[in-house]
Amino acid sequence: MTQEKVTRALFDDVMVPNYNPQQFVPVRGQGSRVWDQDDREYIDFAGGIAVNALGHTHPALVAALKEQADKLWHLSNTCTNEPALRLAKKLTDATFADKVFFCSSGGEANEAAFKLARKYAYDNTGPEKHEIISFTQSFHGRTLFTVSVGGQKKYREGFEPVPGGITHLPYNDIDALKAAISDRTCAIVMEPIQGEGGIIPADIEFAKEVRRLCDEHDALLVFDEVQTGVGRTGHLYAYETLGVTPDILTTAKALGGGFPVGAMLTTDKCAPSLGFGTHGSTYGGNPLACAVAEAALDVINTPEVLAGVNDKRAIFVEELEKINAKHNIFRDIRGGGLLIGAELIEEWHGKAAKFLAAAREAGVMILVAGPNVLRMTPSLIIPETDIREGMAKLEQAIARVIEAGPDAE
Ligand SMILES: *Cc1c(COP(=O)(O)O)cnc(C)c1O
Repeated sequence: MTQEKVTRALFDDVMVPNYNPQQFVPVRGQGSRVWDQDDREYIDFAGGIAVNALGHTHPALVAALKEQADKLWHLSNTCTNEPALRLAKKLTDATFADKVFFCSSGGEANEAAFKLARKYAYDNTGPEKHEIISFTQSFHGRTLFTVSVGGQKKYREGFEPVPGGITHLPYNDIDALKAAISDRTCAIVMEPIQGEGGIIPADIEFAKEVRRLCDEHDALLVFDEVQTGVGRTGHLYAYETLGVTPDILTTAKALGGGFPVGAMLTTDKCAPSLGFGTHGSTYGGNPLACAVAEAALDVINTPEVLAGVNDKRAIFVEELEKINAKHNIFRDIRGGGLLIGAELIEEWHGKAAKFLAAAREAGVMILVAGPNVLRMTPSLIIPETDIREGMAKLEQAIARVIEAGPDAE
């Protein structure tokens, strides 16, 4: 088979323009380093948006994928399979949950969660109890239901009419929540740290009050841990950090370490509402995906990896503070574990993408979270030398952007 040479320019010819990828094409990766078509090396602080929790081509994941590739790829849900059963057992053993539903992405995990919340209320109270409370700036995926629950209008615009019965309240605002919740509320949906919305952590007091109000009004608490889960905050799931247990938790991104897989976790109390035939997904619980996820979970859910997360965070924060002492560019450095946000000073609001492009040119991959915040979601096992080297490159990039000024083309 001959392979034609492809370049970034081809993207604009043959791909739907819903993405605008950076001007290089990565071809291989190892650990927290990536190489492009010209063999240029990059330090990876992006981690595939909190997906590559063990970096690139981790030997345990490669071995699990290869082993399963020679055994069994797919069956559909007319049969169960060993990797899915093992993974479900490990997830329920490691969390509050008793039951698991598998799917292939975060959006699908949330779709299942929101449908379960509605169905549970329908089964146990009645159809009038269908209202969902969510928060402004939240992000829950790109399906029509998940953009509707999500608190960012720009993702809904033009796609109306969208599903109704959804209210968006300011995050971390206990009074607004008290005023809005009622016995018609079937669920409150929140990210323990808002990711896409700008790396905004929930106040512990707020999270506890959300739980209390859910109990008072017989509403389910849904934690969207698609970004915060699987070790990202130094705990397997961030609900442990908050000391608040949800009724439903969604997880994806890092769950497969780069192989597409998602899951909705819930309790014996709620699970019966997704009875036989009520919901499904052809690929959900696919043996290849679950074999890789099992290997990822085995590595990540260990004291060494989880404890390392906050040690590495400390190095990131130290380096970002050093950059800030020199360039006075950040007004806040926040987040939890290796979900790190650095908000630009007001003069630079709206310009985060400039830093991302400059960082790439300097040889380090970062992310943004909205127009004002630089975001880093690196591998949970990124070596200290890679952090320091990447930060030196980031500093060069920041110096260059500042020199050109906020209005430079
Ligand atoms: C990324 C993300 C999603 C969507 O996941 P997909 O796999 O892109 O569907 C949902 N919720 C949160 C919090 C996310 O960060």
